[in-house]
Amino acid sequence: MNIPSNHPRAKSLYIRELLVTGFRNGLVAPEGLIAYGRGEAFDYLLGEHTTEVARDAAKAASSTLLLAKYPVISINGNVAALCAKEIVELSHVTGAAIEVNLFYRTTEREIAIEKELKKNKAKFVLGMGSNASVRIPELQSERRRVDPNGIYKADTVLVPLEDGDRAEALVNMGKTVITIDLNPLSRTPKVAHLTIVDNIIRAIPEMIVAAKQLKGKNASVMKNIVEQFDNKVNLVESLKNIQGGGRV
Ligand code: ATP
Repeated sequence: MNIPSNHPRAKSLYIRELLVTGFRNGLVAPEGLIAYGRGEAFDYLLGEHTTEVARDAAKAASSTLLLAKYPVISINGNVAALCAKEIVELSHVTGAAIEVNLFYRTTEREIAIEKELKKNKAKFVLGMGSNASVRIPELQSERRRVDPNGIYKADTVLVPLEDGDRAEALVNMGKTVITIDLNPLSRTPKVAHLTIVDNIIRAIPEMIVAAKQLKGKNASVMKNIVEQFDNKVNLVESLKNIQGGGRV
């Protein structure tokens, strides 16, 4: 679809188009389109921009990845369709590995996502096929399968657009869990240690900028940023922005 650049909802239509194209190319599950619908409603209320508190959260998230011993970024179909290139860049800047992890896992979707990541210069993609051989305790179905060399072994996991059960199971496994979720009322942002309430399409570039600024700095600088961050306070402030800030 050709979206006129002066259309008042051009950016929003562009994001929809990325997801529809991702769906047609086998990256995105039909359910992923619906999940974006929920996110998009919150983005509308937020005013479709990155708030100050989201920027703070992105900075703390990048610090956490840089400080981690073995960080892993979990990728689903929506993430690959919206920002494969930026995810690969973030993984290069922070040294985090990339693992495909799907709620609706099929071999075809796994391969399509791996192809998209490699097209965008990912060197290695974890979690493919039988490599996702370990199970996360507590969870049923395909979404509990993870890679022993990836999420299972990680000390820190970035799990954007995640469902609450899985995020909670990762927390219970002792991992530091970072998420990106437009809905501060959802379960994942509440159970995660660190949540960026923003559209992933803006949040990952924010994280890249922060990581580039912080990389090479003394660890104490990053530790300080992480210690200052309070997830509960950040969620309350994000909700206030949604209730009053964004479009009012
Ligand atoms: P939970 O189990 O945490 O309560 P949920 O059932 O509301 O989550 P899921 O479909 O499991 O929702 O997860 C998708 C989450 O991702 C939703 O909270 C949705 O608002 C959010 N989301 C969808 N698209 C984006 C996006 N592009 N950027 C940020 N967040 C998004």
